[in-house]
Amino acid sequence: MNILFMGPPGAGKGTQAERIVDEFRVPHISTGDAFRLAMSQGTALGVKAKSFVDQGLLVPDEITNGIVKERLEKPDCDNGFLLDGFPRTIAQAEALDEMLASMGKRIDHVINLKVDRDLLLGRLTGRRICKSCGATYHVLFNPPKVDNVCDKCSGELYQRSDDTEEKVGTRLDEYTNKTAPLLEYYAGKGLLREVDGQQDIDAVTAEISSLLRGQA
Ligand code: ADP
Ligand code: AMP
Repeated sequence: MNILFMGPPGAGKGTQAERIVDEFRVPHISTGDAFRLAMSQGTALGVKAKSFVDQGLLVPDEITNGIVKERLEKPDCDNGFLLDGFPRTIAQAEALDEMLASMGKRIDHVINLKVDRDLLLGRLTGRRICKSCGATYHVLFNPPKVDNVCDKCSGELYQRSDDTEEKVGTRLDEYTNKTAPLLEYYAGKGLLREVDGQQDIDAVTAEISSLLRGQA
């Protein structure tokens, strides 16, 4: 099954992706994670991406499309994938359509997590991520059992440098101007399914899971 998760920064895409990939046994492809890894390793890709990511701006399409194409060609995507955070522009969506067509594949489901803009700042500034396994927490809404320690692997938690009030403003503007128009793009193709991302985390997972199983 080939799945896309859409929604603004902080909507819960990463949180839900961690759960859905376990259930559906497909790889989780997050362009944000790919950029952060490349930046932490100081690769050529990381150096190119850093100035954009650090400002809360989208990385240019030609850089982003290249990493997704390379990733989708790996054999673990043969039985499906979950794309989280890509596409984020109409040009990326068109490039994705072309990539998939050339591989004889197509998107099966586009899930849009809907969350009001005024809730997103609190979600993003309270987000904490495990340095070792990448699991996502929230200081209030999904805290770890022990402060700053990952429940799953005992790794240390950190706060993303772009999860500050100042950067979040730019990131939400990028979403509104460049990514939100994609909802119409996928609605026009009859692929878009809306999920209320303001429910508690388990309820959101249950709704996505039913949609993907064709039970909703
Ligand atoms: P995204 O990947 O869409 O940017 P995340 O999954 O990282 O969003 O979630 C952003 C923050 O909101 C995290 O701290 C996460 O723990 C928290 N969160 C995710 N889903 C919910 C929810 N349904 N209710 C409350 N907090 C949530
Ligand atoms: P995320 O982890 O999805 O919140 O993404 C973090 C940052 O990585 C974004 O603010 C962008 O700078 C960059 N990024 C992630 N995915 C994309 C994409 N599809 N297109 C452009 N930039 C992206």
